[in-house]
Amino acid sequence: MSTFEEKICNACPRHCKVDRNAGGIGFCGAASLPYVARNDLHFFEEPCISGENGSGAIFFCGCNLNCVFCQNHTINHRNTGVRVDENLLADMMIELQGKNANNINLVTPTPHIEVIIKAVKKAREQGLKIPIVYNTNGYETVDAIKSLEGIVDIYLPDFKYCDNELAKKYSRVNDYFEKASSAIVKMYSQCGDVVFDENGIAQKGVIIRHLVLPATLYNTRGVLDFIADNFPKSVNISLMSQYVPYVETEFKDLNRKLTKREYERAVDYCLMKGFENVYIQELSSAKCIYTPRFSQE
Ligand code: SF4
Repeated sequence: MSTFEEKICNACPRHCKVDRNAGGIGFCGAASLPYVARNDLHFFEEPCISGENGSGAIFFCGCNLNCVFCQNHTINHRNTGVRVDENLLADMMIELQGKNANNINLVTPTPHIEVIIKAVKKAREQGLKIPIVYNTNGYETVDAIKSLEGIVDIYLPDFKYCDNELAKKYSRVNDYFEKASSAIVKMYSQCGDVVFDENGIAQKGVIIRHLVLPATLYNTRGVLDFIADNFPKSVNISLMSQYVPYVETEFKDLNRKLTKREYERAVDYCLMKGFENVYIQELSSAKCIYTPRFSQE
């Protein structure tokens, strides 16, 4: 956080005019110290992240987007669970490693970047060896990603929109495409394509995720066009079909699941672009059982 005429939080591109250290609350709703809603093994990420042992997921409260279709909507704009400083967060990481987690999976980490950096350093001093996964909605500053060099091993960014009108409508953000695309390019320059261990578990790299939404194939194509134009064909992509209407919204297109035909067209377009490393889901993944339960619900 830095000081101009007013204190502002610089953790993400919103640059809210709040001093979180003095109790200010910005768009994300995050306090000065993070709240963790859940920390446990998680089995529903990509196979190279979850594997058989599970991913050591730490779900943070507070989100700098406000997607109307969010599967974690119960925690994203309120602080619930355990309030942690860097010591407690480092302890959680060590505990998850003790449960044989394949990695530490920081879910919605963006507002908490300063504490996360300190915690990872502490945990590594205490023997943390497994990779750190930065599981983000993609709305990041390039400066934030620069500060994570040497801290994060694997980036798992969403690349939700190429269409800023759609981003505004569904996630209350005006400049998603510019910010997310620049941040993801930076992530790739740090970590590159995924490197696997002998068991097929990711150790380093970037997996760009795109959730295909109902009735927005043009947006999916735009995202894939950008990736094709700015990354090698070897880049790892996860094309997700798991959209579920968790809450009824004012947008009628969002009040249904994706159709088989819509997802097939997205997959066909992705393959037509020549990408070599694409995770494709079964439509049966679109079930609420793949959404974690938070103990405070
Ligand atoms: S992290 Fe939160 S408070 Fe800080 S700029 Fe982003 S939305 Fe605003």
